[in-house]
Amino acid sequence: MSVELCDLPAHVLSARIAVAEITASDVAESCLARIERVDPSVKAFLTVTAELAREQAAAAGVGAVAGIPLALKDVLATKGIRTTCGSKILEPYVPPYDCTPWERLRAAGSVLLGKTNCDEFAMGSSTENSAFFPTRNPWDLERVPGGSSGGSAAAVASGEAIWALGTDTGGSVRQPAALCGIVGFKPTYGLVSRYGLIAFASSLDHVSTFTRDVRDGATLLSAIAGHDPRDSTSLPQPARDYGRGIEEGVKGLRVGVVDSWLGQEGVEPGVTERVREAAERFAALGAEVGSVELPHADYALSAYYLIAPAEASSNLARYDGVRYGHRAPGARDVVEMNMRTRGEGFGDEVKRRIMLGTYSLSAGYYDAYYGQAQKVRTLVIRDFQAAFERYDLLLSPTSPTVAFRLGEKTENPLSMYLADVFTIPADLAGIPAISVPGGLADGLPVGVQLMGRALDEDTVLRAAWAFEQDLGFAARPSLLEGLAA
Ligand code: GLN
Repeated sequence: MSVELCDLPAHVLSARIAVAEITASDVAESCLARIERVDPSVKAFLTVTAELAREQAAAAGVGAVAGIPLALKDVLATKGIRTTCGSKILEPYVPPYDCTPWERLRAAGSVLLGKTNCDEFAMGSSTENSAFFPTRNPWDLERVPGGSSGGSAAAVASGEAIWALGTDTGGSVRQPAALCGIVGFKPTYGLVSRYGLIAFASSLDHVSTFTRDVRDGATLLSAIAGHDPRDSTSLPQPARDYGRGIEEGVKGLRVGVVDSWLGQEGVEPGVTERVREAAERFAALGAEVGSVELPHADYALSAYYLIAPAEASSNLARYDGVRYGHRAPGARDVVEMNMRTRGEGFGDEVKRRIMLGTYSLSAGYYDAYYGQAQKVRTLVIRDFQAAFERYDLLLSPTSPTVAFRLGEKTENPLSMYLADVFTIPADLAGIPAISVPGGLADGLPVGVQLMGRALDEDTVLRAAWAFEQDLGFAARPSLLEGLAA
């Protein structure tokens, strides 16, 4: 098929906009036309803001993000634009303010295409927990795009958006990026403000990027990172250009392969093969490649499923039928109103998390569950500290499998939870981690994960860029091959 503007990376588009070869409006129209064409089958968007996109494109100046169409996961508050968190309870909610990442992008001339589908309150790994509809994977419409930020991933993979923001609490950007064959980058915890990100698990929530390539990931991060006094966990880091050293290559970098994850039960052979090949490629590019152990990582998933629900049970207490969104009608008193609102407003997975979290925080169980999980979290952090004494980067699969079929894991929450077994450790530790396409297995994309030291996004980005350039992954979703030229 012919490549259209909406299929190009942002840096190519902004270079062409800068020399007036194309306009931002051309790019926006290209994306909107693609949305019209494929979104009835992909279903990446909950809200399309076509009019706003046209206005913003017409007014966009020149700059790294100016005039580049963006999609936002529907957990990021947008002033005047409905923000649902994929939940019935927030279905009518229109925020009175913008989240900081979008406020910064908007001020820099970014063009908003709309809000993307996600698992309810970002709880899930397939986008099937959305209260509205599931999103489909553009590589195979019978398969999931991953989750919870599956709408954003599918939008970028299908050319509906040039890039997008999602949130990664346990893997919800890297895992869908892997399953959709694009780049997903989670920066260090606290580098990007969470102000206006509707909270799931506050100590784990990271605003993160979906892009066509690694260079765009650096650019988009540079536009949203930097201190924000409105988020008490925001780091004092000033805004800066994360793309600066990206060309420096990997010579001399020490890359540790998390070997024990490769042989693990449930890891598809095609995934293991692509990660082994990635390790060989790094060696060929001049990195020193060895093997690394993360002895407590096996317990990370269990710790996560105590800590994340505990925080969620507290964060989601605010949906009481009074302050935000939906209210059950006709109740006789406030208790009944509250119970019915939450009973009909939340889906099963959200209720499961609230119950689990409330239980593990309750008197008598706190020490055994929540307290114990926090200790495990510390052990995972120490594993990384030890690993980074010997290595600059850790290499692993992003997801144990390629994209799975819709419905395949919905009956068994535990099997769904396992989709994030390799992404959760970096969330618990708050360290930067990226997923880059490493090739195909059974015709579907495999993501390769690189994890780095806290605040060392530069090394992660430059290694990922070197790998991406050398591999030259150019396969495209079958959906796009099917579009007539
Ligand atoms: N799948 C994980 C969960 O359900 C991660 C979600 C996320 O990163 N938002 O909690």
